[in-house]
Amino acid sequence: MKKIHNFSAGPAILPAEVLQKSAEAVLNFNNSNMSLLEVSHRGKDFVAVMEEARFLVKELLGLGDDYKVLFLGGGASTQFAMVPYNLLGSKGAAYVNTGVWAHKAIKEAKMIGNTKVIASSEDKNFNYIPKNYTVPTDVDYLHLTSNNTIYGTQIKHFPDSPVPMICDMSSDIFSRKVDANKFTLIYAGAQKNMGPAGATMVVVKESALGKTGREMLSMLDYRVHIKGESMYNTPPVFPIYVSMLTMKWLKDNGGVSWIEKINNEKAKLLYSEIDRNSLFTGTTAVEDRSNMNVTFLIKTEEMGIEFDKMTKEANISGIKGHRDVGGYRASLYNALPLESVQVLVDVMKAFEKKFA
Ligand code: PMP
Repeated sequence: MKKIHNFSAGPAILPAEVLQKSAEAVLNFNNSNMSLLEVSHRGKDFVAVMEEARFLVKELLGLGDDYKVLFLGGGASTQFAMVPYNLLGSKGAAYVNTGVWAHKAIKEAKMIGNTKVIASSEDKNFNYIPKNYTVPTDVDYLHLTSNNTIYGTQIKHFPDSPVPMICDMSSDIFSRKVDANKFTLIYAGAQKNMGPAGATMVVVKESALGKTGREMLSMLDYRVHIKGESMYNTPPVFPIYVSMLTMKWLKDNGGVSWIEKINNEKAKLLYSEIDRNSLFTGTTAVEDRSNMNVTFLIKTEEMGIEFDKMTKEANISGIKGHRDVGGYRASLYNALPLESVQVLVDVMKAFEKKFA
């Protein structure tokens, strides 16, 4: 198979050994002579997978005992509604609007209760992270989006919030050290740093739940899923299995501090080239640049046609920018090796030589 340098924003590259083991489990799960896809989620083999996945989340995030880990369906987008449904009470919620995903979270919260946007970077097409805002003390929670997959910005310092802090970490979970215990709830769709699409991880402090006075629909109630150990309904078994393997891959290689160093190196390599190369420019404020999604523009549209040819020849895939930003977006998730970034940088250098 020819090696593809997969810079896709999600679903995204996974470690080769994880794909290999996943493929094996689809054919013969734990030597049962049955596929992982045809055994009961309540059988002891899959229950062990779920337990291991929960354990790995807690270990990788360094979470204390009061957190519960859930694996749910419905994507991170369902969490946009479940978070306010479970936590937004009479006081209301504060949101920071840093892009499309934050905006979608705000839209859902507004339908559930009093929702204030306390800071936004919409004035500059979300090319920076708002910083000088005060978190109100009289709200039920503050909601942040740690990394903006589309615009390529990332929160580098989380505020010391006087109210419970919630974070959508879909596109940078497990990519760098964060003090996860600062948050009351963290959620992330699996399909970037954790596994394939179809499972969403939620960690929540159980003590924060059940305070809104709202009568709850079962499937949208975190307490129901906690009680059912993510098996109140049939869980997305395959995405959970692959996520477990990916987290194990991360842990066995040295965990979050190991990958953070590599992620920093990858981002530095690419941003340095963007800043050096006369034919490309970055799209975001330098201090807020994402280490996961690197967004950049090319000098002219015509040049883009030539650059696309050259990247294709180098087996580079998935760098087309989101339609809201244009240009290019190279996603440097955990499983993307440094060598792939080097290949992209080499093409950018060769392109400049040819066309500058
Ligand atoms: N939040 C962020 C930061 C995302 O990047 C995405 C998807 N790219 C979502 C939420 C939505 O996730 P899903 O498609 O799993 O609902």
